[in-house]
Amino acid sequence: MRVTNILKAKVDRLVTTRPDATLGEAAEIMRREGIGAVIVTEAESEQLAGIISERDIARGLAVHGDKLADMKVAEVMTPSVVTCGPDDTLEEIMQMMTSGRFRHLPVIRDGGLVGVISIGDVVKIRLEELEAETHMLQDYIRG
Ligand code: AMP
Repeated sequence: MRVTNILKAKVDRLVTTRPDATLGEAAEIMRREGIGAVIVTEAESEQLAGIISERDIARGLAVHGDKLADMKVAEVMTPSVVTCGPDDTLEEIMQMMTSGRFRHLPVIRDGGLVGVISIGDVVKIRLEELEAETHMLQDYIRG
């Protein structure tokens, strides 16, 4: 299974915010969209500028307290984002998430952002694969 197939099976649209949005706005996007991270893009170029996840907000709250909601996304986001490509395999992206200790991977195709794969997508597909393998083995055993 490759990233391109995983993206095809998803119906979600790409949710982004800007570096100068406030963290209150970013948290509201996460609540409204039911997601745990938002991709941050530059206003003019639409280029990837960073990622902000609920973990950054939890850490930010511990460090900055009440001020956090009015601070800018750029102040607590992770600017050095690890990305994947359409031809990367499920195994490769599982490895990236495990070694990087994060649950979101933006997908870049031809220099542009085309989607995000979350750990939830990975778990869902892996479960489907395991179920299919189990059925195949059961059929094989039954002859
Ligand atoms: P997550 O597990 O995705 O909620 O993110 C945990 C931490 O890793 C947060 O500080 C995120 O900003 C950061 N993070 C999430 N995804 C990535 C990624 N693809 N590349 C680099 N950092 C990331």
